[in-house]
Amino acid sequence: MKSAQIREAFFRFFEQNGHTQVASSSLIPANDPTLLFTNAGMNQFKDCFLGLEKRAYQRAVSSQKCVRAGGKHNDLENVGYTARHHTFFEMLGNFSFGDYFKRDAIHFAWTFLTSPDWLALPKDKLWITVYANDDEAYAIWADEIGVPKERIIRIGDNKGAPYASDNFWTMGDTGPCGPCSEIFYDHGAEVAGGPPGSAEEDGDRYIEIWNLVFMQFNRSADGSMDPLPAPSVDTGMGLERISAVLQRVHSNYEIDLFQSLLNAAAKVIGCTQQGQASLKVVADHIRSCSFLIADGVLPSNEGRGYVLRRIIRRACRHGHKLGARGAFFYQLAFALAKEMGAAYPQLIDQQAHIERVLQAEEEQFSKTLEQGLKILEQDLADLKGTEIPGETVFKLYDTYGFPYDLTADIARERGLTLDEAGFEREMDAQRERARAASSFGVDYTRLLKVEGTTDFLGYQQNAASGQVI
Ligand code: ATP
Ligand code: MG
Ligand code: MG
Ligand code: MG
Repeated sequence: MKSAQIREAFFRFFEQNGHTQVASSSLIPANDPTLLFTNAGMNQFKDCFLGLEKRAYQRAVSSQKCVRAGGKHNDLENVGYTARHHTFFEMLGNFSFGDYFKRDAIHFAWTFLTSPDWLALPKDKLWITVYANDDEAYAIWADEIGVPKERIIRIGDNKGAPYASDNFWTMGDTGPCGPCSEIFYDHGAEVAGGPPGSAEEDGDRYIEIWNLVFMQFNRSADGSMDPLPAPSVDTGMGLERISAVLQRVHSNYEIDLFQSLLNAAAKVIGCTQQGQASLKVVADHIRSCSFLIADGVLPSNEGRGYVLRRIIRRACRHGHKLGARGAFFYQLAFALAKEMGAAYPQLIDQQAHIERVLQAEEEQFSKTLEQGLKILEQDLADLKGTEIPGETVFKLYDTYGFPYDLTADIARERGLTLDEAGFEREMDAQRERARAASSFGVDYTRLLKVEGTTDFLGYQQNAASGQVI
């Protein structure tokens, strides 16, 4: 099944079970200033779960555009390293606003995954986790569904404070919260990694495909938990991960949708080597960048715009590593529109805009990328130890426009680390200089900036949101 067909099947299954299909919301959260980007299907329904908003339906199904490249969930560093993480992905989800609860949620998920009429996955490849003391969910999986007990794992017991584990979901410090149950797929013994809850769980053998959240309690400021009058359900399944399972490939990057992006990237860059991490990074990043621009984000020096800029510059650097010279990234917007435009027409409508924004950003950065890389090589040739000094990281940042994480990405490829404290000291010193200069009424730091090299004002904390950017 192609990813587009899986998305459709998901809608159909839940519509047949009384759910209303709701369109994906924008990547820029409409009602939550604490959130950098939409990172889950439930975001747009937050007020429904809180009881602040009533809708005409109590059951919803959606495929939500998500970006996890900053804030609480940040998978940027995983891209290119794991088989399962993207900066942009689609989260399929079904939701109950005070309607059905655990039993139905579990039965729906299992039926959709294993029924011969739907995805028909082999049952013995599926592993389940429940929250440590969630006997109710355990019993449903074991007794009603019939999953053998060796493949149902309680998570959370041994992780210290109650409700601090991965399998207990909270919306914030207070408010609705509750236990989770996750469904994992075993990709087989050829892949490294252990079952969920084991020391090796971070490998890519057992991949989490679906997370069911049972909103059951309301947590008050004093930490007490009272049962919610009408418990709710929020679920999320990564479309790319379930596509990999159904297409019998291990990595998300081998699914239909990514194959065409990888081919397009190799063609535009002029390299042939498939399977390279850098090519995957480029293919991943064209999705997050294009969707973010389509939703109104523009590259800038702070907040959401700086996250976008960082992703674009990372893509440029990886393209450069593969041999690209000059602007190449923007040309992939076409391939993406071709691949995903049917499901997301904004990619087609805004293709020209996306290309213009990307091309301008790339052209600006390509002027300094080459030079910055040369400087870095020189400094590395003299490096003693395995830590790149803060002054070098700062120089690359300030003069050549290398975001901190871009240098960190290069360092990681070579088994090196960055002197973060030293970099922060240089940043503080620069801010101090800027303050001193501006107290004379003229912002000398601005005057001193040379064309095209730096229009950076800071790697900093966003004062309004508190998000580290
Ligand atoms: P993981 O533990 O693998 O990082 P998660 O627990 O952080 O996943 P959830 O927040 O539970 O993920 O999101 C629900 C589902 O969305 C996951 O079960 C997975 O299928 C998918 N998903 C989460 N993060 C990503 C990502 N970065 N790229 C692709 N799919 C993802
Ligand atoms: Mg995660
Ligand atoms: Mg997880
Ligand atoms: Mg999860």
